[in-house]
Formats: sequence, C-alpha cells, structure tokens
Amino acid sequence: MDPIVALMQQVVDDVSDDDSGSPASYIPELATVDPDRLAFAVVGPRGIVRSVGDDEVEFTIQSISKPFVLAHVLSRQGLDAVMKRVGTEPSGEPFNAISLEEGTGRPENPMVNAGAIATTGMVEGADVAERTRRILETLSAFAGRELRVDESVYRSESTTGDRNRALGHLMRSYGIVDAPVDVALETYFRQCSILVTVRDLSVMASTLAFGGVNPVTGERVASERVARDVLSIMSSCGMYDFSGEWLLRVGLPAKSGVSGGVLAVAPSQFGVAAFSPRLDRHGNSVRGQAIVATMSDRMGMHLLEPHESISQPIVDITETPEGRVIRLSGELGFAAAERVLAVLRDLAVATPSGSTISLDARELARSHPAALVALKVELDGLPASITLLE
Ligand code: GLU
Repeated sequence: MDPIVALMQQVVDDVSDDDSGSPASYIPELATVDPDRLAFAVVGPRGIVRSVGDDEVEFTIQSISKPFVLAHVLSRQGLDAVMKRVGTEPSGEPFNAISLEEGTGRPENPMVNAGAIATTGMVEGADVAERTRRILETLSAFAGRELRVDESVYRSESTTGDRNRALGHLMRSYGIVDAPVDVALETYFRQCSILVTVRDLSVMASTLAFGGVNPVTGERVASERVARDVLSIMSSCGMYDFSGEWLLRVGLPAKSGVSGGVLAVAPSQFGVAAFSPRLDRHGNSVRGQAIVATMSDRMGMHLLEPHESISQPIVDITETPEGRVIRLSGELGFAAAERVLAVLRDLAVATPSGSTISLDARELARSHPAALVALKVELDGLPASITLLE
C-alpha cells in the first residue's frame, strides 16, 4: 500500500470508534444522512488525490462553499468592495447569530451566515439561476469537476430558512445587500446545497494551498493574492466559534460545514478534507476535526512552527574559465538571503584577488523583493567583486 494512504488509513482507524455528537437536524434533509460515514482525502503538489473510507459518497457542501464564493467576489470586485459590505473579524458567536456591526450593519466576517449572504448577494447575475451558475462554475473549477445542486436539500433549506431570510432583510435595510432578498437567499440556499465528495473538497483545499492553481487540472482558478486573502480569513474565522482554539491546536486555515465536511490547507504542501456527519456543539464534525488535527500533528503541518526549508534557494557553485558562478534557483525568501550571504562571504574571503564571482539569480522561480534588496546591499561590502545577474 502507498505509505501515505497507509498513514491516512491509520489516522481514520484511530478516530473511527468515536460516535459522539450528532448530525445537524435544523435542516430536515440533513438529518436523513448515515451518521457513520467517514472519509478522508489528501492532495499534494503533484495533484495526486489520495483518499480512504467513504470517499465516493456525496454530501452537500454547506458552509464550506463560503470561502469559494468569497474568492469569486474578491476576484471580480476586489478586497475593498468586499470589505465595504463585510468585516474580517472573528465573531466568537454561533454561525447563524443575528449580530451586525453597529452603525454600518456589516456582518463580522464572510464565514458566518450573515457575511456569506452578503458575499453571495454580490455575485452578479440577472436572476437566481444565473447567479447560481456563476457560483457552480467557480466551485467546479476549484474542484476540477462539474458540480451540481441537490434539489431536495435546497428545498429543505429554503423551507426552513427564515432565520437566514431575517438576516437578509436586516442587511438589505442597511444597504449591505443590494440584490432583492429572495434572490440573494435562494442563491445562498442553492450554493449550500451543492453536492461534493471528500475528494472534491481536498482538491478545492489544495487549489487554495497552491496559490489558486488547481494542482489536478493545472488551471489557475484564483490569483495568488485572492487565495492568500481567503486563507487569512479562514485562519481566523473558518471553524465557527472554535476558530481561535483550532488555530492554536491545529494551526491550519480550515472551513467546516454543518453536513460534516471539513477542509484544511497547509500552504504549498497539502489540501486535506474529511467527512463525518456527527457534529460537536460548535457545529464542527467531531471525527473530521480529529482526522485533520492528527494529520497536522503527525506531519508537522502547524503553520506557526519553524520549517527549515522555507524559501531556501538551491545554490549551485561552478568554476568556469571566467571565474566562479553561483546559480540560485527555487525560491529566495528574506531569511534565506542571510544564508546565501554567509556562503558568499566565505567564498569571497577564499577567492584569490583578481578573480571574479558572478551571482546568477535569473533562474529563481520566485524571490521576495526585500530579500533581493538585502542581498544587493550586502554584496557591496564583501571583499571581492561580485556581479549580480538578475
Ligand atoms: N445552509 C446552512 C445554513 O445557512 C449552512 C450552515 C453551515 O454549514 O454552517 O444554515
């Protein structure tokens, strides 16, 4: 068995006996799910989807749609336009709380229902069908396959969605929602009722992990900046009123939904997703969280722990008749510039006077502007003449 799949199976086996919590029942259709379903999927940089458990079972995406609709409106209208209508502060309140910023009427963030209804209200289109089509197109591009709406969950949500409608009316009275309330709300209910599997969610997570490029299809779905903005908001607000403790314990931007899905992102490394319908008191999947937490722990994915290899370029030194050539490739981050300088200092000291050193930075796939500036400033002070090619 593939060693990563074996590790994943082990993680799933470790959590499978926990039957605490219960599936959401406030949307009647959600209560009909088999509560024992359990699935886990991971996608790395080469776009290989690995999954275990009930990985073909479809369930509705619910709140996990929120970051992707946010990505849609950020891409088209920009951060400032979005922030006029919705804040970016964790709410510390349940996902369906009726609380808006005093004075402006802005909801706290786009991951709670009010904020998501505000962002969904920004999706352009003449009617619910056109707006839903745009949302489906975006989410499908993130997932790398054509997604569709579960009509019976949609009807169930719409029939019981008065609290969300109340939020819509309140926000329209403040001018936060421009669209007619029924158009914004029915679009929102349809967006929550999009069917996905755990494999779809892992691909969607990995597209955010790799700066907006879907690693399975190779398609750029969002800009790097949009992916970064979405991940920032997921980090502080993605796990309902457990978001702070989640960041502390697991250390990954994540989003969960009331149907039992959860996805998490280890930037530049992995997208992961889990599915198990029983929820805790915050509305997060009990076993889904345990799977992601265990995986983060075993693979050292917590964002805030030190990683030796971050932004280290590959340094290749060759002797040529014209002198020494030092080639940098890969990525040059700020901290790594210091280490490259240390190598250059040693070389400069050991270089006989009269011979030259060239530093070739043309093959760097990415360099952080401040890193290159720091490098240039220091080059002048070295005891040898170094030519920088960039
Ligand atoms: N459709 C659900 C609602 O609006 C989504 C909630 C969630 O997943 O947090 O109530």
